[in-house]
Amino acid sequence: MRSIIEEVARKAGIPTPDIVISNEKRFYASANSFADPKIIAVDEEIVKLFLWNKDGIKFLKALLAHEMGHIFFNHNNAKIKEEHQADGFAVDILEEPETLHKMLALPRLGGSLFVALQKQNALPAEYLSYITYVLANYAIDTIPGLGVLSKVTSFKAFIHIIKNVIASSMPLDHGHEMEHLFDKVTKKLHDICADHQAVQEACRKFSNYEGKEDHPAPLPRDNHIIACIKKKTLRDARP
Ligand SMILES: [Zn+2]
Repeated sequence: MRSIIEEVARKAGIPTPDIVISNEKRFYASANSFADPKIIAVDEEIVKLFLWNKDGIKFLKALLAHEMGHIFFNHNNAKIKEEHQADGFAVDILEEPETLHKMLALPRLGGSLFVALQKQNALPAEYLSYITYVLANYAIDTIPGLGVLSKVTSFKAFIHIIKNVIASSMPLDHGHEMEHLFDKVTKKLHDICADHQAVQEACRKFSNYEGKEDHPAPLPRDNHIIACIKKKTLRDARP
């Protein structure tokens, strides 16, 4: 971890910040650009979530690059303008800036999944995090749009989707092997994720009785990242 932080800090052109790992189960990271030395706080759940993915180290680098962007610009509040600026900074210093999208989507999905599974009360608490890492990574690799979906649909609608997933692979017999449970849940999740249209359709139906809904669409932040990558590509192509 230390060498990754040093590597990203070198590229960011800032002194290596301190890293504080918290355990709040909030799937959240932040930067304190007023502390001396500067501090990046990362929830343990994010690190574990990332490390369940084959590209996890790349996500970690993308996360650190983004947070170091906040430090570079001395940001002090989480306004969308500052997020855009930090994303642009990360795009400029990352070798694979496309990883930013997944890096943002994975904790969004992981956080929503974790709370949804928790509320179901159907799974043993000690396995909740573990199941979240497996499911979220599986889902994000199968259908990347689900990360956005968990953000733009209301939380209630998202829980409905997850609830259906869990309900159709339950009732949970506690005598079952955990692996067997994973098989059932991931298979069901796969069925639902296999067709993004179907998930969108499901959200629209839920909106009938859940009140007004936003429809799944790329988030402004993702659009901004796409624009930054395009700019960088053009710049690099210039003779
Ligand atoms: Zn940020």
